[in-house]
Amino acid sequence: MHKRLLARIQESGPVSVAEYMTLCLLDPVDGYYPTRDPLGAGGDFITAPEISQMFGEALGLWVIQSWQDLGRPNSFNLVELGPGRGVMMADILKVLRLDPACRKACQVVLIEASAALQAVQAKTLGPSGANVGWVDRLDAVDDAPCLIIANEYLDCLPIRQFVRIEGAWSERRVGATKTGELRFEVDGRPAPQAITQSLPAAEDGAIIEVCPAIDLLTDHLAERFKQTAGRALFIDYGPSETEFADTLQALKSHKKVDVFEAPSDTDLTARVDFGRFKNSAIDQGLSTQGPTFQADWLRAMNIEARAVSLIQANPGSKPKIMRQLHRLLDPDEMGTLFKV
Ligand code: SAH
Repeated sequence: MHKRLLARIQESGPVSVAEYMTLCLLDPVDGYYPTRDPLGAGGDFITAPEISQMFGEALGLWVIQSWQDLGRPNSFNLVELGPGRGVMMADILKVLRLDPACRKACQVVLIEASAALQAVQAKTLGPSGANVGWVDRLDAVDDAPCLIIANEYLDCLPIRQFVRIEGAWSERRVGATKTGELRFEVDGRPAPQAITQSLPAAEDGAIIEVCPAIDLLTDHLAERFKQTAGRALFIDYGPSETEFADTLQALKSHKKVDVFEAPSDTDLTARVDFGRFKNSAIDQGLSTQGPTFQADWLRAMNIEARAVSLIQANPGSKPKIMRQLHRLLDPDEMGTLFKV
């Protein structure tokens, strides 16, 4: 990937941060996700559903409640974006047994860019006996009412970065030195107005990130929910209000590394700008709730009562379950950095 990037930069100049992320993460031949299962202790990062079944179970209750609020449709799509190993969906489906009519109405639709992970999802969800299908894009999901969920999906969608210079925004791109080292470079010209018109003013030197794919997703949700009422729930890490910062980060074996250290061999993500996401959803006529701290949301879903009943069923598991709760809820762990 490093060689391919250098060739591309030599041929047509520095690439946007979004192009860099897209190539590194999703290239079908060399990309990070298509070539591996990155999750878990032996991988590069771990996510909430992989930490504890209680996380997916809380989402399961949300699904049942939302289905009831939608008037108990006979058939609905439960759509998950970027399902990873399928663990969260498996825990949700177990909880749906609490309401057999909901479970019967539920059609699982997964949207996953990596063929390697699709295979893992099929294996994880096989025993559930549920109706599970895969589609490429949200547009391809049929018109039945949709409940859409995604955990740590928005953070890997490609961002563009802009730097404020002399009162104007210029794009920050990925270029290379003469000796072939990747580095950030700033465009000499201001960025096109079509992009910058939605950006706030800021002091010189400020950096702002924009995720065009989240803007597109918002348009799509508005369109769909105007036709047929539904709900979407996103969980990810990021601030509640737009911040000015370079938040692109790379993880390898659970440690932060330089974003250019090993292109396509590290997990690249950026903080999700929940402030912008919410505002554009409202502008599109959607009604929104949150962002709420993950800890507050999970407590509202009664995760602590669930922990108590799991411990009662298996007293030896107490230390493990307490550790899991701590990771999900503590402000020094995922509790407040992650939003719902
Ligand atoms: N939700 C899972 C996995 C998070 S990792 C969990 O919480 O454990 C990010 C997931 O999104 C992976 O499954 C990755 O392959 C998928 N993904 C990344 N970019 C995508 C895209 N553009 N379209 C669909 N899936 C994508």
